[in-house]
Amino acid sequence: MASKFEETQARLFKNVFVCKKCKSKQKSTMQKVLQGKILCRKCGGKAFRTLRKAK
Ligand SMILES: [Zn+2]
Repeated sequence: MASKFEETQARLFKNVFVCKKCKSKQKSTMQKVLQGKILCRKCGGKAFRTLRKAK
C-alpha cells in the first residue's frame, strides 16, 4: 500500500522539490523530505516545498 501511495505522490509532484532558501531543485521522495532526510546541495537547507504543476 505504501508503494502505491508513493507512486501517487510521484505522479502528483514528480518527486521534485524546491529549496525554500536558494530555490534549487532537488529530486527526492515525499517521504524523505517529510522525514527531514534531504539536505540542499547548495545551501544545506532542510526546508523544501513541492513543485506543483509547472506552468
Ligand atoms: Zn538550498
